[in-house]
Amino acid sequence: MTNNDKYLVKYSNLFLVKGFLHSVILDLGRNDYEFITNPTYSFLMNANKKRVIDARRKNKNLLNLAIAKDWIFLCEKYEINLFPEISIKYLTNVLIQNSNIIFEGNLRKLKHILELLCSAKVSCKYITIIIEFSISAIDFTQLCTLLGKFTIIKFEIFIKYNNQLLKVFKNINLRPSIISITVFESLEKPSFYKFIFVEQTLEFNFIDYNYFNPTLELFIESLYFNTYTNKKLLINESGNVFKSFKDRENLDIFNIEKIENIILKLSKINNWEVPKSKIDVCNVCEFRNMCIDSCDIMSRKDGTFYRAKECNYNPFISKWDNETNFYYLKDCGIICNTSGIKINKKKLENTLEKIYV
Ligand code: SF4
Repeated sequence: MTNNDKYLVKYSNLFLVKGFLHSVILDLGRNDYEFITNPTYSFLMNANKKRVIDARRKNKNLLNLAIAKDWIFLCEKYEINLFPEISIKYLTNVLIQNSNIIFEGNLRKLKHILELLCSAKVSCKYITIIIEFSISAIDFTQLCTLLGKFTIIKFEIFIKYNNQLLKVFKNINLRPSIISITVFESLEKPSFYKFIFVEQTLEFNFIDYNYFNPTLELFIESLYFNTYTNKKLLINESGNVFKSFKDRENLDIFNIEKIENIILKLSKINNWEVPKSKIDVCNVCEFRNMCIDSCDIMSRKDGTFYRAKECNYNPFISKWDNETNFYYLKDCGIICNTSGIKINKKKLENTLEKIYV
């Protein structure tokens, strides 16, 4: 039997995500991704479980590329269905997966809230501590000591830039549970150890591809839910539950006995069940299954969704706003607002020609 009579199977840990201008292949075994052209995307989608000879007839070069890149492998016909697929069912038993705690300075109250969040009933796994005021070096050190005691939670800290703290940052020894400290509104640039310095304010609607997270867990969640709001609680250490970071409407007081009610309220208000594939513009973006962004999701009367604000990546032209030849959506013919999304094809084609031809 020649190779032509064999069959092609895509590796099960690879997932293809089609974008407007190009696509990505997510390698969830390696937590990595690679850009592919849209014709390559179509080829791979069609080649899976098909005969080598048929794929070769369609596109010999793409077939050779796919085999050389280890995207697909050859097998006998009877083997096709022997390779188990990775399950993409979303299974979780946690009530709250993620919490953002706005820390206002009371460590005793914070300790109490942290104990509730990691109780068996809630089992929160990731907590972000947000510090919007100028915290003293002593209080910051005590905060890190407190967080270090909660070994089963992963913490991220977002802290406003304060040059008094730089010396502490350089000398502090953080426990493994504290995975990163992002310093916002920063005048310093170089990041070191677990510290990331960014110029943006905390309300930033800013996507950084360094934060893209091509993991199986996030991929599966992103298929069904909004990866920023799903199972997320925004709270302060006094237990006030807020709607969103920008809109600090107090929705409830955190109460472990009534946590199910709070979850029901949050899931509706914050559109937990709106994945990026249902949000205009994001739904044509090749990054939609690994991107987490905090932008408010707006709903239209007809049940469609759009972002409150455009992000710093334009998937229609595949450009970031810090790249040359970047155009905002409206400047390349895309109008997305409360009435719907309209694409002026001629204007978009002209823009793409200006950029790429
Ligand atoms: S358009 Fe922006 S926010 Fe939407 S998925 Fe792409 S990078 Fe993320």
